[in-house]
Amino acid sequence: MAQKRPRDQRVVRNRRVAIYTFLLILTLFYISAHRTVQKEREMEALRAETAAEGPGEQVKELAEGWPEEVVGGQTGGQPKEPVQEQPEGLPGARVYKERGEMDADGGLKILPEDMWCLILTNAEYPVPEDYEVELESIPGTEQSVDKRIYEPLMAMIGDMKAQGLSPIVCSGYRTLDKQEKLFNRKVLSFVKAGHTKEESYNLARQTISIPGSGEHCLGLAVDFYTRRYHKLERAFEDTPESKWLVEHAQDYGFVMRYGENKTDITGIQYEPWHYRYVGVEAANYMKDNELFLEEFYIEQSLYG
Ligand SMILES: [Zn+2]
Repeated sequence: MAQKRPRDQRVVRNRRVAIYTFLLILTLFYISAHRTVQKEREMEALRAETAAEGPGEQVKELAEGWPEEVVGGQTGGQPKEPVQEQPEGLPGARVYKERGEMDADGGLKILPEDMWCLILTNAEYPVPEDYEVELESIPGTEQSVDKRIYEPLMAMIGDMKAQGLSPIVCSGYRTLDKQEKLFNRKVLSFVKAGHTKEESYNLARQTISIPGSGEHCLGLAVDFYTRRYHKLERAFEDTPESKWLVEHAQDYGFVMRYGENKTDITGIQYEPWHYRYVGVEAANYMKDNELFLEEFYIEQSLYG
């Protein structure tokens, strides 16, 4: 018995060590799993917030009274240069109505009266405060657009439907007020996910136009869902509706406004669902020359 005792003690000690080690590993594992779940929940919430960018139904659900200014001191909406009057002395004297003419001449002629649909808004160029738009409701939705683009939009949707496709306009015109609420909400979602206010502001401004700007506030842009795909996410590009739009939208005067790998130019991330009316001639020209609106402005000397 006397000989066995030390061994027994060793065994007991070893068992204790083993049990404590096991408990420690179990605790660490639990903490790690808990953190992963928490992170996933945050990401899920973030994805849900991101999807809320456009759809009217979700916009309606927004709680009133978000803080006026989420990010102290950062308005971001001040243009580097004030918004200019429509540039005078635009090149050329006519707008081509036929693509053949346009191609034969090798260039595009823009008249000042056609600038209404080429108006630019981005972080540098806010929507003019006195901007007014006459709206037309899109049947079967709660959305509306500038009356002047109603016909080409409906023609495009009609032709898509005739091909068996099912585009749904989930976001059209939006007031500046609504735009600001959406933006503030987006900033908060990034803050909640653990980013600093500054980081959150900068992340938000890549996914949604900053207060004071935004194509939806012009009434010249729409976001598309499809009957089967209800998200404003990258995978929209894989839907047949998106593929059709990429190929044909320009013939109705629409362009994909925020292209892939164009964030440094447009300031907004890739949005395959967001289409903007610029007129048939400009849309075809932009498509042929692979220009996005900011690049088109430089190429056509449209900056005032
Ligand atoms: Zn949009």
